[in-house]
Amino acid sequence: MERALQLTLCAQEVKQYLLSLGATLVGFGDVSQGLAGELRHMPVAISLAIRHPMSLANLIHTTRGPVYSNRYEQVDLLLEQLQKRVVNLLRSRGYRSLAIPPDSHRQDTRFVARLYPLFSHKVAATCAGLGWIGKNGLLVNATYGPCLSWATVLTNAPLEVCTTPYVSGQCGRCRRCVESCPAGAIADREWRREEGLVPHIDADACRRQLEKNQQLMGEDICGLCILACPRGRAGLQEAGYLRWLKGRQSRQ
Ligand code: SF4
Ligand code: SF4
Repeated sequence: MERALQLTLCAQEVKQYLLSLGATLVGFGDVSQGLAGELRHMPVAISLAIRHPMSLANLIHTTRGPVYSNRYEQVDLLLEQLQKRVVNLLRSRGYRSLAIPPDSHRQDTRFVARLYPLFSHKVAATCAGLGWIGKNGLLVNATYGPCLSWATVLTNAPLEVCTTPYVSGQCGRCRRCVESCPAGAIADREWRREEGLVPHIDADACRRQLEKNQQLMGEDICGLCILACPRGRAGLQEAGYLRWLKGRQSRQ
């Protein structure tokens, strides 16, 4: 009966719809492998991302050098609005869906929120061919680097999925984030899908650095592994960061 109510919906239609609403990247992945039992009826992930509005305002200068804030509440709000729109579209065609919000770890007392920790945006984005997990432990897109915020909608709609998912990292010999990390928290190791999502970063060392920064400037941010990534250079160039950095270096 449910199937009889389902109307055709193609991936291209969903993609164009989301891009027209402001998404930067949209992709579709088969995430059936390893999906938690509670989510198994929705084996397709719609992965969407919005690039960070790069701005020098995100650079905070300390006596020890710059740090970079990649917290963009406005981007997260827009991603959630896009998720609502695509969920409504899927529902109108008779399909099920679950929107996993950008900041899926935040405190949320709603019943549905118990499902969020069962799925990671990293699985959706890598299966959709939109990015790999970089040595810095973040999703890295070939064009925008790690300068993106991500969200996911799981669905049972039979959308065409990516046939070339990322199954390993593409950082190659680059080790700029490794060298930029003041805490020595990043290992020079490439991600491989068969290892799962285990990050190659020392989360405790990173946390200690953030605590240090909190004491130093009142905010627990660092982001040097984002600033260092050559894959996000285009956005930094636009924001004038590279010019600023060059000027700063010549003054030293
Ligand atoms: S946020 Fe800073 S301390 Fe943490 S891994 Fe990145 S560079 Fe290292
Ligand atoms: S800085 Fe280099 S090694 Fe680190 S995530 Fe970016 S591309 Fe990968």
